[in-house]
Amino acid sequence: MRRYAAILASERQAGTVVGGAGESMAKATTERDEATAARLEAALDTLALACRILEMEGHASRTLGHAAMRDPEGRGFWLKRWGISFGEVRGAGDFILLDFDGRVRAGEGRRHSEWPIHAEILKARPDVEVTVHSHPFHGRIFSASDEPLRAVSSAGSWFPAPPPRYEATSELVRTPERGRALAGCLGDHFAVFLRNHGVVFCGRSIAHATLIGIQLEEACREQLLIGASGLAWSWPGDEERARRFGAAGKADSLDQYFDYFSRKLAWREKSDGPYV
Ligand SMILES: [Zn+2]
Repeated sequence: MRRYAAILASERQAGTVVGGAGESMAKATTERDEATAARLEAALDTLALACRILEMEGHASRTLGHAAMRDPEGRGFWLKRWGISFGEVRGAGDFILLDFDGRVRAGEGRRHSEWPIHAEILKARPDVEVTVHSHPFHGRIFSASDEPLRAVSSAGSWFPAPPPRYEATSELVRTPERGRALAGCLGDHFAVFLRNHGVVFCGRSIAHATLIGIQLEEACREQLLIGASGLAWSWPGDEERARRFGAAGKADSLDQYFDYFSRKLAWREKSDGPYV
């Protein structure tokens, strides 16, 4: 925790008053910094847990893919460091703080080159706290199709309308211009396909973003399977889908589902070691 307290303290103007009221103010500031640092570290530990859950639930693709969380102090966002898989993200120390121009402000490790995805979505969407880019097997296959994502079952009902598809390029999103175009394509959705590449999804909380990612991959798998089966099939219309969306992903359910996946991961890690 000290590392994060030091980061926060160094970002602030240091007071020069000594003794009396100045001293107690300095003490209060230190205590505030410690409490803020403890909250931040706990949140990043939870984001690390979310990364490992995503690895377990179909979002693994070697050391590719990254997750980010808005910095609560408004300095930018905390991005998973480059070079490790989602399944190897163990805690707060695996994230680095970037400002919205991509400058590394704190933490150890390299940044992913596609950092503009996170910067531009977080700038465009004040309601979003967490952003993820990954290459799940079924999601990346589905990204190459021209089909809208249907609500084959309840998984698809987590999306009130088919997520859009970013079609400008299948190359990496390495510039702010491409990041802005992607954020524009995302609009007010919580997921977007990147054609012939992968997916980007986000949420109002860590649990929300994690569940969106899991449901997105499940919905893609369902549609690919039913589409490939040769069976005649159907899906709910827009109004029915909207009603089902209203029943999916309620805030209390999100925490319950996130806790379930946390327990499932703990069982796996207990029996098999790190789930990578
Ligand atoms: Zn990618």
